[in-house]
Amino acid sequence: MSKTTQSKRQMAVPVGIAGAVQYTIVPKDLAAHLFDVTLEIAQPEAEGQIVSLPAWIPGSYMVREFSRNIVQIKATSEGKKVALKKLDKHTWQATPCQGSLIVTYEIYAWDLSVRAAHLDQSHGFFNGTSVFLSVRGQEAAPHIVDIQRSADAACKTWRVATSLPELKAKRYGFGTYIAANYDELIDHPVEMGDFALATFEAHGVPHDFVVTGKVPNMDMSRMVADVQKICEAQIAFFEPRTKKAPMDRYVFMTMVVGEGYGGLEHRASTALICNRNEIPLKHQPEMSEGYKSFLGLCSHEYFHTWNVKRIKPAAFAHYDLSRENYTSLLWLFEGFTSYYDDLMLVRAGAIDEAAYLKLVSKTINMVTRGSGRLKQSVAESSFDAWTKYYRQDENSPNAIVSYYTKGSLVALGLDLTIRAATEGKKSLDDVMRALWQKFGRDFYSRSLNGTQQGLEENDIEALIEQATGVNVRRFIDKHVRSTEDVPLAKLYADFGVTLDAGAGSKKASLGIKVARDGNDCKIANAFEGRAAHLARLSAQDVLVAINGLRITSADVVDGLNIAIGRYRIGETVEIHAFRRDELLVVKAKLQADDVPVNQLKLEVDHQAVLATARPTYKKAAKR
Ligand code: ZN
Repeated sequence: MSKTTQSKRQMAVPVGIAGAVQYTIVPKDLAAHLFDVTLEIAQPEAEGQIVSLPAWIPGSYMVREFSRNIVQIKATSEGKKVALKKLDKHTWQATPCQGSLIVTYEIYAWDLSVRAAHLDQSHGFFNGTSVFLSVRGQEAAPHIVDIQRSADAACKTWRVATSLPELKAKRYGFGTYIAANYDELIDHPVEMGDFALATFEAHGVPHDFVVTGKVPNMDMSRMVADVQKICEAQIAFFEPRTKKAPMDRYVFMTMVVGEGYGGLEHRASTALICNRNEIPLKHQPEMSEGYKSFLGLCSHEYFHTWNVKRIKPAAFAHYDLSRENYTSLLWLFEGFTSYYDDLMLVRAGAIDEAAYLKLVSKTINMVTRGSGRLKQSVAESSFDAWTKYYRQDENSPNAIVSYYTKGSLVALGLDLTIRAATEGKKSLDDVMRALWQKFGRDFYSRSLNGTQQGLEENDIEALIEQATGVNVRRFIDKHVRSTEDVPLAKLYADFGVTLDAGAGSKKASLGIKVARDGNDCKIANAFEGRAAHLARLSAQDVLVAINGLRITSADVVDGLNIAIGRYRIGETVEIHAFRRDELLVVKAKLQADDVPVNQLKLEVDHQAVLATARPTYKKAAKR
């Protein structure tokens, strides 16, 4: 950056906020995907100021080493160059200097996910964790950021969407924004571009709904109407009396792509990425599976506004962004959120009970598919999220359990247990509201003086008992700290819901999941103890032929190889496969397909009970 532009940029930052850390960020080169960042520290540490970039982003539990995207970095003070010494992969120390310290650096932004930063001529997006160096010792000071428009003609009509409070900027405009401290600064991602925008209010709080990416005939008003119902249901859920939302405004920012799915929660916004097919179109009013899943994603991330952004495990009350932060409670923070995301869709009236039970059935089948659930508890899965859940490989179904899916079944099991024990007087809702009052409601006001608290690792049983009067210690021991399945058929029975395990499939199977790999059919996962495993085939082997008939990618349908379906259970087939470039010829005895087909069904007699009792289940009369 030239000196003249640099001094111009500094002038754009308003002075007068004592001790503020000040940043300028500008999309510098759209084609090279570079943001230019300037950090001004008015009073650098006398011993030599230390600055560092986070190694991970809260909400996504994996060390990602964002500093690898810093292309070049330099520092000056009073017009003179200041040396920066690199202390470790993401930390620098400046040589002591008299005046203010100015650090300038470029960020390579070409990660199309909700976790990092992305920039091209279509839009710009960044999380603060990817672009803002923290200033050691000044993390609690106000942080000001000047988001500048690029000189590039492509940005002429761009607007800015963020929940970061404006200091000197019009809503949706470039200009200066302010955060109370560094923790807040990095919790408001920023989207810039020619996005579609709609606004609505949920219990009096303004919400922005921002969509980036081309969608012909997008039905924005339908999305906004559905999402508004979901938001209002959740606000009323946590504060039934006052219906007071925990934030002054909220921003949903969605990036629509050809293929992708994911979301990341923040205190007053969420960044989502979804498949184009999930967005509803004006001329297609029916509820597609894709749209249902998109609404589930919106509901999930919004629920996190309370659960994990304010109600937190003690391990997350003060983040250490330089390394892994361990907690065994993600089954509660992600699992309970997964339980309520679907439940909120039915409570808000976005889907009906039958559709809801179908979603729960799908979760049950996902959990029971993998033998990993018998080896790892959800508490262990939470603790090891950094190295296992977030770093899955071909063996994961045999080795780990998801704290999302099994965690949501734990929530369901606890809910049914509490409702049965109290004859419907108490439920998991009371637990969530107790957590909210104890930890969540004042979290950020307390964080201003450093007295915020979170849920300790072993305190949840006592809290549940306090909130509901029900002792769930044995339940937690068996289904959370050990690997026992949640007995949902038994628990559901009293509520007029039956769990039908399916008639048993008559299809022959190798016990594998396959994937297309160019023209080839490749084994993605080989399930333990199943036919392929017993025949010594492995994940990543390429299937070439079964009984002399060629197998190609055309045989792959929904992760299954349809050619195997031509044979019968118990039949032995000869399989040709390649492992690397070496041909294997094996014999495999086909087994019955073990894909779980559990289906929850509402008994006709009880349908009315469940429907009229919305939003709460009522225990049906004993038969
Ligand atoms: Zn989540």
